Amino acid sequence: MNENGITVRNKKIAVLPGDGIGPEIVREALKVLKAVEQVFGHRFDTGTYPVGGCAHDLCGSCLPEETLEACKCADAVLLGAVGGPKWDALPGEERPERALLGLRGGLGLFANLRPAKIWPSLKGASPLKPEIVSGGIDILVVRELTGGIYFGAHRRSADGKSACDEMVYSDSEVERIAKVAFECAKSRGKKVTSVDKANVLESSRLWRAIVGRVSKEYPDVVLDHMYVDNAAMQLVRDPARFDVLLTENMFGDILSDEASQITGSIGMLPSASLRLDGFGMYEPIHGSAPDIAGKNIANPLATILSVAMMLRSTFSLHREADAVEEAVSKVLDSGLRTSDLAAPGASIVGTAQMGDAVTEAVLKMVK
Ligand code: NAD
Repeated sequence: MNENGITVRNKKIAVLPGDGIGPEIVREALKVLKAVEQVFGHRFDTGTYPVGGCAHDLCGSCLPEETLEACKCADAVLLGAVGGPKWDALPGEERPERALLGLRGGLGLFANLRPAKIWPSLKGASPLKPEIVSGGIDILVVRELTGGIYFGAHRRSADGKSACDEMVYSDSEVERIAKVAFECAKSRGKKVTSVDKANVLESSRLWRAIVGRVSKEYPDVVLDHMYVDNAAMQLVRDPARFDVLLTENMFGDILSDEASQITGSIGMLPSASLRLDGFGMYEPIHGSAPDIAGKNIANPLATILSVAMMLRSTFSLHREADAVEEAVSKVLDSGLRTSDLAAPGASIVGTAQMGDAVTEAVLKMVK
């Protein structure tokens, strides 16, 4: 039971381990989820389903109908990663990465949340100068996921000499993602920086007008607008100035990768793709890392932190989410590292040992 007297029972999580390191890191995240159940008295029903290249091998489709249906019937989805060289020769529409688009579209996930923060004990891992990161970085990128140029018409002229990609946004699409950003900012640093290219693009002028209108419903949250080229520059010049970064689809694709890199560790960054009813798909931002698959050296923390996001965003279990994040912080403070974060003086452990350490830290938490 949590502090609000809520005990979660009969909530379904569809687990999609996927390819490469996916099964290894998801296994560790599920260990931590079990520890949360034990400490706080919840019970989640988890079912595992194939996705990606392994699903193609199994039944000829990277996103089998049964998997999509199971996700639709669940309250949340936990995804590892998909893809790998074994399936690179498949035609475009059959490739494992297509499963991600199928899941996002099929589940109506329009809001992508990517926190990019530097853990105090990992400041040395950032590629930025120490004086830039000394005050800490804690940015939440809120990216619109189902509109914009990726979903507009893509055309090539008959002679093949010119091409066109349409960027379309409706006011309702901008409004719903803006509300997500302002709601997030309310419980963080109370600042939204909305990114656009309103000096050039008509869709950005609409974006800016709607975001400005939505901001009036959130008087406690400060809004500023920034052109995307300036935002790209400020992310490396002065990242501490950002709290919530609100962007359309393509700008967010680029800026969220940049934001994640300044924290220095791809194996540490979780993400959530959400819709309005609280349903979400949670996954690490990295891929299936085929180069290290099966070696027990992958960092499971991004997937474990994705479980924390799931507990907070889909199940409103804030104390439990805090407990998982605190456990990760304690383990890092104790000097344990997977090899991607190797540093002088660190104790290098494998994937399973890192998962065990976080599980132990959660189990030690007082209810
Ligand atoms: P990648 O993120 O898998 O790996 C990039 C580098 O980071 C590799 O050196 C890898 O070893 C390392 N790395 C990644 N995650 C790590 C972790 N948890 N711990 C330690 N090191 C880690 O990107 P890639 O190599 O470009 O892609 C590999 C495959 O993954 C491709 O098939 C790609 O299409 C797919 N991919 C899938 C997703 C997804 O499922 N969401 C996202 C990106 C890429």
